[in-house]
Parts: sequence; structure tokens; C-alpha cells
Amino acid sequence: MSDVAYKGEMLHDEPLARYTTWRVGGPARRLYRPVDSADLACFLQSIPEDEPLLWLGLGSNLLVRDGGFDGTVILTKGLLDQIELLGDLKVRAEAGVSSAKLARFMAHNNLCGAEFLAGIPGTLGGALAMNAGAFGGETWDWIEQVETIDRSGQVRTRSADDFDVGYRKVSGAEGEWFLSATLKLNSGDGEEAMNAIQKLLNKRASSQPIGLPSCGSVFRNPEGDYAARLIELTGLKGSCIGKACVSEKHANFIINTGGATAADIEQLMRMVQERVEQAHGVRLVSEVHIVGKEAA
Ligand SMILES: Cc1cc2nc3c(=O)[nH]c(=O)nc-3n(C[C@H](O)[C@H](O)[C@H](O)COP(=O)(O)OP(=O)(O)OC[C@H]3O[C@@H](n4cnc5c(N)ncnc54)[C@H](O)[C@@H]3O)c2cc1C
Repeated sequence: MSDVAYKGEMLHDEPLARYTTWRVGGPARRLYRPVDSADLACFLQSIPEDEPLLWLGLGSNLLVRDGGFDGTVILTKGLLDQIELLGDLKVRAEAGVSSAKLARFMAHNNLCGAEFLAGIPGTLGGALAMNAGAFGGETWDWIEQVETIDRSGQVRTRSADDFDVGYRKVSGAEGEWFLSATLKLNSGDGEEAMNAIQKLLNKRASSQPIGLPSCGSVFRNPEGDYAARLIELTGLKGSCIGKACVSEKHANFIINTGGATAADIEQLMRMVQERVEQAHGVRLVSEVHIVGKEAA
């Protein structure tokens, strides 16, 4: 792998616990911080075809195992971070822009509809990959087109119709990652949008353990029900394995109470799945993406 063609920073054996909101995860063999999308394309052209790649935004929906990631992590948070107003109620933002910053930018420009993004910790890239949503809104409801990049560095523009989008899942364009998106909003009143954002943030603060290391909701809501309701009904609030505990405030959150390992969290997830299935006949499905290898 040549290191002359690209301008970004390459880190070796970088602990991923620094880059995930659960604060767990072993090292990445390499972690690349691109300068911009042209530099990223250049970097991708330089890596071997079989190099495992992991895209990382804020790491707020990722459980990286304790043995780390044996490949190259591409970090976007705070790096691919351009936002621009396009006119005709449209905004273009790069994948590393935080969802909260994007929501505020839109509100300041009297563009309304996607205020829910303000409370979702993460980047636009992560929100696109997950179809992140809250309070009835979903990311892809507002997407007109995206720019993707593949592992050879080729950039494509794709319409939202190229993707099959559902509840916390997105498919289509396999082997491509999100570089940017163009959102089309409604015309509205910026002050009202900022008030709506504040209300949504207050609502979150009263129902979720904000500020403690977590990944938000761990399991998807099963059809017609809520994972949190089933976990609470099974009596699992406050259950712990090692330093990982089911939150007392919101049963679908698992908290790292200080010094938890990824293995503690994964075991607790399995325990919750088994106990809920025994009690209610419903197998909860992880919303969180689990990557990497177990510690030796
Ligand atoms: C306190 C808290 C509250 C939360 N509340 C919500 C909520 O209300 N609603 C909700 O939907 N989620 C919620 N989440 C989960 C999480 O914030 C979202 O899923 C968020 O969109 C993830 O963004 P990220 O940048 O952190 O993605 P990451 O965790 O870094 O990555 C998530 C996945 O997306 C992939 N990915 C990242 N960037 C790209 C890219 N550019 N192109 C392709 N793939 C990419 C990663 O490889 C990974 O598979 C919450 C999390 C926390 C900690």
C-alpha cells in the first residue's frame, strides 16, 4: 500500500474505543482520516482489493468487538463536513456532517420537516446507512439523491429510488458507501423549527439516559410492539453482565457503566434476546451493527 498518493492521516493500531459511543472496541489495524472526498477516492485506489473496509461515523450504532478490526477503518466524522444551500428548498451535505448540525442548518434557513435529526447522535452517513429516525420521521423521507463511492474510488450519483429503504435498513448499491446527500425540505418558519427541535430534545432527555455511554436503542421494535416494553416486562431493567447494564431509564438501552468490554455488551444482548424469547415468544433483532473479532 503506497502512502504518497493521498494527503489524509493514517493511524496504525488505533483503539476504536475512542471512536464509539459505547467506548468499547479493540484496535483497527489502520484508520484513515481523509482530507476531502477527492483525497478519499485517491486513497481507495491505493488499497488492495481484498482489504477489509469499515466506514465509521460517530460510532453510535456500532459494537466493535474487543479483538478489533483487522482491516482499514475510514473515518468520516468531522472530516467530510461540507454543507451547502442549493436553493429550491434543497441542501447538500457530506457524509461526515453531524445529524444535529444538519438539522440546525436547515432550521436556520427556514427549511422544515427533518427536525427529528437534531436528536440523533451520529453523522449523515450513518443516518443514511441506518435510515435513522425518531418521532415518526425517517432520514430517507427527505433524500432526493446521494453520491456514493466504491472501493475503487469511483463516485456515482444515485437517486433515492435506487435504494430499498425500510425500518432501520437500507439496501441497494452494494459495495458503495455514502459520500453526500441532497435533501429536499418543506418551506417553513425557522423559529418554529428551532422550537420543535428544543421540544424533541427535552422529550429525549426525559425518557433516555442521555450522556451515558450507549448506542441508543439496541434492538429493533418488533412489528406492532416495542422492544423496550418487552424487555421491561421480562424484568430485565438493571440486569448487568460485567460492567454492561440494561438501563433503568429506558429498557432498550445498554449502558457501559465504566470499564465494560464489548464481550460484556454482546453477552448481555444475547441474554436479553433469550429471556425475552422464553417469556414472550419474540426474538428481538439487533439494530446495532456488530463488527470485528473477539479478543484472543
Ligand atoms: C443516545 C443515543 C440515541 C439514539 N437515538 C436514535 C434514534 O432516535 N433513532 C435512530 O435511528 N438511531 C438512534 N441512535 C443510533 C445512532 O445514533 C444512529 O443509527 C446514527 O444514525 C448512526 O450514525 P453514526 O454516524 O454514529 O454511524 P456509525 O455508528 O458510525 O455507523 C453505523 C453503520 O453505518 C455505516 N456507515 C457509517 N457511515 C457510512 C457511510 N458514509 N456510508 C455507508 N455506511 C456508513 C457503518 O459502517 C455502520 O455499519 C441513537 C444512539 C445513541 C447513542
